[in-house]
Amino acid sequence: MPEYPATALALTEAIRDGEMTSEEAAAASLAAIERFDGRLGAFLSVGDPVDPPVDGILRGLPYAAKDNLCTRDFPTTCASGILADYTPPYDATAIAGMTRAGARLVGKTNMDEFAMGSSNENSGIKPTRNPWDLQRVPGGSSGGSAAAVAAGLVPLALGTDTGGSIRQPASFCGITGMKPTYGSVSRLGLIAFASSLDQIGPLGRTARDCALAMDVLVGRDAGDSTSIEHPHAGQFLQAALEERESLRGVRIGLPAEYYAEGIDPEVARVARRAAKTLEDLGAIVEEISLPHTAYALPVYYILASAEASSNLARFDGVRYGLRAAADDIDDLYRRTRGEGFGEEVKRRIMLGTYALSAGYYDDLYVKAARVRRVMVRELEEAFKVYDYLLTPTSPTPAFCLGERTEDPLAMYMADLCTIPANMAGIPAISFPGGFVGDLPVGVQLMGPRLSDAGILATADLFQRVTDYHRVRPPLWGGDTS
Ligand code: GLN
Repeated sequence: MPEYPATALALTEAIRDGEMTSEEAAAASLAAIERFDGRLGAFLSVGDPVDPPVDGILRGLPYAAKDNLCTRDFPTTCASGILADYTPPYDATAIAGMTRAGARLVGKTNMDEFAMGSSNENSGIKPTRNPWDLQRVPGGSSGGSAAAVAAGLVPLALGTDTGGSIRQPASFCGITGMKPTYGSVSRLGLIAFASSLDQIGPLGRTARDCALAMDVLVGRDAGDSTSIEHPHAGQFLQAALEERESLRGVRIGLPAEYYAEGIDPEVARVARRAAKTLEDLGAIVEEISLPHTAYALPVYYILASAEASSNLARFDGVRYGLRAAADDIDDLYRRTRGEGFGEEVKRRIMLGTYALSAGYYDDLYVKAARVRRVMVRELEEAFKVYDYLLTPTSPTPAFCLGERTEDPLAMYMADLCTIPANMAGIPAISFPGGFVGDLPVGVQLMGPRLSDAGILATADLFQRVTDYHRVRPPLWGGDTS
């Protein structure tokens, strides 16, 4: 029987080989949650899976899902007061896919409210702490999922990534997180933040575990008109395990703008060292320039907020969740939304409504959409020459709780390196690249559309020759209290 916490791959193999039962796997996960989550706050709801596992490639695997993915058996709150008591009548396609593959959901994870944030401090319920240092944030908005995997509470978790929300917490928590090509994973049953950017993806300890999850998650779904037929659906793990023995001939660009001002030099050093490792594996590594990167943050915050202001209009006290006591219908909207939404969500709704209002629409929304096109074209040009781009995932290691809560702009800076991949709809992965002090730091590999298998295989190759992903946070030793 493997020592828990095992990787998802090792655990599913142990179950398949009869070394462990799915009941034991779920019990081990629930026991770890019981033991550690009081300190971490990674979960919003926890429950023993009732149905026996289906016989698929994930048979018996306990996993967690971010609380913006609709689940029939657990409440789905988006960590918001407005959905505090909401339990959806159906499972998101991603959740149903996991069930069909044999995985068993043991709980829903904490997040920044409606996925707006980079530290989990915007959760309307509670903060989540970083298992490497309980005074620090786990990143966000999928911070609960990242902390849960890093602390060994579950081997695998689902998150969502609109501007970096899988990759940045993966970086802060020392694990691997993948944002697939836009459209690869159905968004049906994902409570929308910014629909042109949102994508569901896995967080695991290794690239292989992410590839295993991708084999289950990726597929065309008639229920999501933006979902696509991915040419490598069902072949990601195989690609990670077999495709490459070396990186000979693979061209990797290091965009100077991601190693410049605003990036902690120690973090940049970690990314450069990772580039050297890939070079030693045979890759051709070159510095390049992507000057439009400078516009990523302002463009994202206009477009994402505009889409959010429209998507969140549905929370009106009539259809879902909270309904405030009110005198008339206008009063109902005002009070429900006023009481139900937190500060950051209100800030985004106001920003977005402003960007979409007559008189400002051309100047803000239309201009931002145009700059997005220019940025995407710049990336497309780069991918004519380079197979992948390697960058830091986030400008800094995990920061302290409270450090940026009073300064939204400082908080937004955490997304500097991750936003471009969402704008372009391209796949990107964050994997452990080293440490700054005692804190893990991730590096990000981006590739052109549909290169998901390639970036998983490249990250796997990196993990074959490095040990950063094997280092455990002090928590599991039981001596951090
Ligand atoms: N931190 C970014 C934001 O606050 C990204 C969030 C996300 O990817 N969901 O919008």
